Amino acid sequence: MSDQIEDTIRKFALQNAVFFKGKANPKAVVGKILGGCPELRSKAAEITPLINQIVEEVNAMGLEAQTKALSEMDSSMLVKEKKERHYELPELKNVEGRVVMRIAPGPSGPLHIGHTRVSVLNDEYVKRYGGDLVLRFEDTNPEKIDPEAYDMIPEDLDWLGVKCNRTYIQSDRFEMYYDYTRKLLEMGKAYVCTCDADHWRDLKEHRQACPCHDLPVEEQLDRYDRFLAGGYEEGKAVVVVKTDLNHPNPAVRDFVALRLVSHPHPRTGDRYVAYPMMNLSVAIDDHEMGMTHVIRGKDHLNNTLRQEYIFDYFGWKKPEYYHYGLVNIPDTVLKTSIIKGEIRDGTYSGWDDVRTGTVRAMERRGIRPEAIRRYWVEAGMKAVDIQFSWDNLYGMNRDIIDAESNRYFFVRDPVRYDIDGIDVIEGSAPKHPDHPERGDRTYRLEDPRT
Ligand code: GLU
Repeated sequence: MSDQIEDTIRKFALQNAVFFKGKANPKAVVGKILGGCPELRSKAAEITPLINQIVEEVNAMGLEAQTKALSEMDSSMLVKEKKERHYELPELKNVEGRVVMRIAPGPSGPLHIGHTRVSVLNDEYVKRYGGDLVLRFEDTNPEKIDPEAYDMIPEDLDWLGVKCNRTYIQSDRFEMYYDYTRKLLEMGKAYVCTCDADHWRDLKEHRQACPCHDLPVEEQLDRYDRFLAGGYEEGKAVVVVKTDLNHPNPAVRDFVALRLVSHPHPRTGDRYVAYPMMNLSVAIDDHEMGMTHVIRGKDHLNNTLRQEYIFDYFGWKKPEYYHYGLVNIPDTVLKTSIIKGEIRDGTYSGWDDVRTGTVRAMERRGIRPEAIRRYWVEAGMKAVDIQFSWDNLYGMNRDIIDAESNRYFFVRDPVRYDIDGIDVIEGSAPKHPDHPERGDRTYRLEDPRT
């Protein structure tokens, strides 16, 4: 057997011994050698006794001599290779060339960790296939808007590395929603309902139409003009899209498309009183903006079913919908209304207060956007509900920052000891064990009374 083969075996045996407290395991060494040197596979039977013999010799050396021997033979083998688990998102269905996808937050505050999932997933796919990533502000609920969110959300996405190349604001698009709603009324696919809301819902539960459902189109259109002009009081009329009153899922039977709101809108003031519900504006926008694939949480499953009616009535091509499972994020304040209250009271220092789960707080805490991205790519788009693990995120973050960060420690709950006869204790440790060039950190403890 050539010296070269013996050397190779010795290197692998030494490495296995160094990694496992001085004791190499002959089977593991055989596996490593045959895995790493395919040309030796045909000689497996021949070399196994030699491997056993060399492992025995190596195991008799002791850890220190093994480490020295390996560093002389091939010092690169002293470094443990990190097993990189590689996660990849599944391919999307029906991709024909470029994709158009979207992130559609309500501007009620800055983004929090929960929003980052949809942001990262969409961004990953647009980067993979090429195409457009749309940022769409869904600001159709004037009571839930924080005007600063229109600026904060793009900043948060920027920090996350999510690149949106088209931006829309739904409050700019009301006239278009009104026009499509008029078409639905003309087609007999919608009605203006003035019934008591509870009564209407009750009828739906029993698969029954309310009296407004079948009024003639002419009358619906008269009512609609009055509706848009503010001729009804808030809560006294809504526009409803017809679906199927026999649909097995009561939530999908006829749904509200427009409602009346008197609360002024931060951007449009009191210009409009008729406000679209998300199923109307989202369906129209997803069509108008040419969405090819929509990724959303499972909580939107019923909304998808409702929105598909609108697509079908107009004969529009539907996007491919994906619904990922819900995420429970423990021990974290995410609700914008709560955070806002605490900021107002002076309890929180701002949107980036580290006790909150906002993207800004992540940034301030030293969490890297790449860690957040990796977390969500690994979670993928599965429909199962998951529990968010801060520990896993911190672990991923540690992998990213470890090499460039120096190591320090602190003692959270120090206890005082008096040691007789010792006044000073000094110690030192490298700032980073893999980077001796950065020098040491030294610690000096002395008795303050001396
Ligand atoms: N504004 C909605 C949300 O953030 C839109 C989601 C969707 O249509 O997929 O939940």
